Amino acid sequence: MKNVNTVSAIHILDQATVCQIAAGEVVERPASVVKELVENAIDAGARSIRIDITSSVKEILSIRITDDGSGMSPSDAVLAFTPHATSKMTRIDDLHRIHTLGFRGEALASIAAVSRVTLKTRLRNTGQGTGTKVLVEGGKIQETGETGAPEGTNVLVEDIFFNTPARKKFQRSKNTEIAHIHAILEGICLAHPEISFRLYTDKNEQLVTDRSPRILDTIARIYGSDVVKDLIMVNWSLPFMKISGYISRPSLSRRDASRILIAINQRYVSSTIINGAIKEGYGTLLPKDRFPIAFLTLVIDTGLVDVNVHPTKKLVRLSREKEIVRAMSEAVKTALLSLDLIPDVDVSPQIFLEDAGKEAVTVPNPVYDFTGPVPSGIRDSLHSGTIMTDRQLRQTELPTGMVPMDAKLPVMEVIGQLGGIYILATTESGELVLIDQHAIHERILYEQVIARTAGEHRSQELIVPFILHRTLQETAILRDLLPALAQEGFVLEEFGRDTFLVRAIPVVLGKLEDTSIIDEMVSDLVSEEPVRSVNTRERITRIIACRGAIKAGTVCTQEQSQRLIQQIRYAKNPFTCPHGRPTMLRFSRTELDIMFKRS
Ligand code: ADP
Ligand code: MG
Repeated sequence: MKNVNTVSAIHILDQATVCQIAAGEVVERPASVVKELVENAIDAGARSIRIDITSSVKEILSIRITDDGSGMSPSDAVLAFTPHATSKMTRIDDLHRIHTLGFRGEALASIAAVSRVTLKTRLRNTGQGTGTKVLVEGGKIQETGETGAPEGTNVLVEDIFFNTPARKKFQRSKNTEIAHIHAILEGICLAHPEISFRLYTDKNEQLVTDRSPRILDTIARIYGSDVVKDLIMVNWSLPFMKISGYISRPSLSRRDASRILIAINQRYVSSTIINGAIKEGYGTLLPKDRFPIAFLTLVIDTGLVDVNVHPTKKLVRLSREKEIVRAMSEAVKTALLSLDLIPDVDVSPQIFLEDAGKEAVTVPNPVYDFTGPVPSGIRDSLHSGTIMTDRQLRQTELPTGMVPMDAKLPVMEVIGQLGGIYILATTESGELVLIDQHAIHERILYEQVIARTAGEHRSQELIVPFILHRTLQETAILRDLLPALAQEGFVLEEFGRDTFLVRAIPVVLGKLEDTSIIDEMVSDLVSEEPVRSVNTRERITRIIACRGAIKAGTVCTQEQSQRLIQQIRYAKNPFTCPHGRPTMLRFSRTELDIMFKRS
């Protein structure tokens, strides 16, 4: 490079280019236009907001937002399109007490920089007869003047990205863009049940909410009343914040977190940290790859929320984040613990009608009726299993005089067992409950292992130490786990290159006749891919519970089954196993009657 001192390489960008660059941050896609304009309408105190989308086969053609908010004066209507023009803050200190959704003064300028905008507005309650019309194209004001207009504001946006072909090329299919608009509006509607929203695409009504003081009405309007049936109320307060709203019963879960909608101070936000906290509140009630549904509203001291993190304002930064996140988990956990969470079996009768035509299915696992004689084929397995089961049940038996947990669990009586896997029971109100005997015993054992405090004696020495051979790789993994295992009562000692001596095992495993259980546990431990959210102690606990529990396929006597059911009453969360699968299912009498077409 020559003449570096005489040729200037740097120049200042012209205003139009600056605006287009800035616009890129705010207006990513058509849905951003909807978001910004709807938020402006909310900030203007609208009670009713209407969104009209028109489209061609391929793309969205126009977006119109109509509100009955404050409206703007003729001069404000023009000024509103200038970058950084806002009525919502004046000084930087104001950022700590922002109560409006907007404050950066960027949206209208940004939208107008990349499209053609026609704004019509008239001030509310001033008796002023006429309104103002402003037409802006690619950031340049083309026309201003008087016009007839109802009170409030009406913004029409056309030709989005007409002057930014690169951005336009990146737009997805029309349907994807409309789906984004839906998603954004759902969040906004739930954050503002006090406002009525109406969305139309090509004159077809898509989404309508009514003004209501109750968020539940809004949820029902958007997602249907079926969802509402399976929601649980959440209510939780700390001195500087309040959490309220609804979460789903564990039976209503989803593959992703898209139905976790959070509003902080009436701003719909997305936060993976909060989503995680909610999931954590479910603990073992949900499998690790499932997410609940949640509609939660947080009201926090505005000084603790920094909304100025990103131009779209969808991300927020929270002071005292740890406390807030913990409170979220606690709120969810508490709401869940207050419930009878046995999922109702909801089988639609049609399924049975369809099946009726097919050949009868032979059920390999007959129902064992304890009141009748035991079929000879299973008598042997019955006997050998019984002693082992007795021992396992004794391990989880609690001292008499303990008070059962206050989970809303119905009193149940055992009526049979199916295939050595499911216990059949009835409740006082005549419901049929199917209980997975392994899953429920696993849950009981799991809670008992957890409940043991650190000082308590967890270990029982084996009279004859058990020798464990492992591959070299497994030996290395196991070596790292020795201290954690010792904490839970497993005392293992290295014995040569790839061998361990098992000297003691957890008390909860009882008197072990069959040491293969230990081998199985260690195999689980070294083979299982550690899950990030589960710590080593939790993993060990789950493995002990799983391997120590009565196995599926074990035929239990009626007395044993009844004992097991009795033990459930002492579990904090009897409704799922430690892996989040259900432990029981309930068929109500009504359901059964419907299935049999009695009603
Ligand atoms: P911000 O919302 O951050 O202030 P905008 O560019 O979105 O920035 O809007 C600029 C200003 O225009 C707002 O501060 C507000 O005074 C006015 N305005 C925008 N939309 C409306 C509306 N629908 N009703 C009344 N005033 C509006
Ligand atoms: Mg705004």
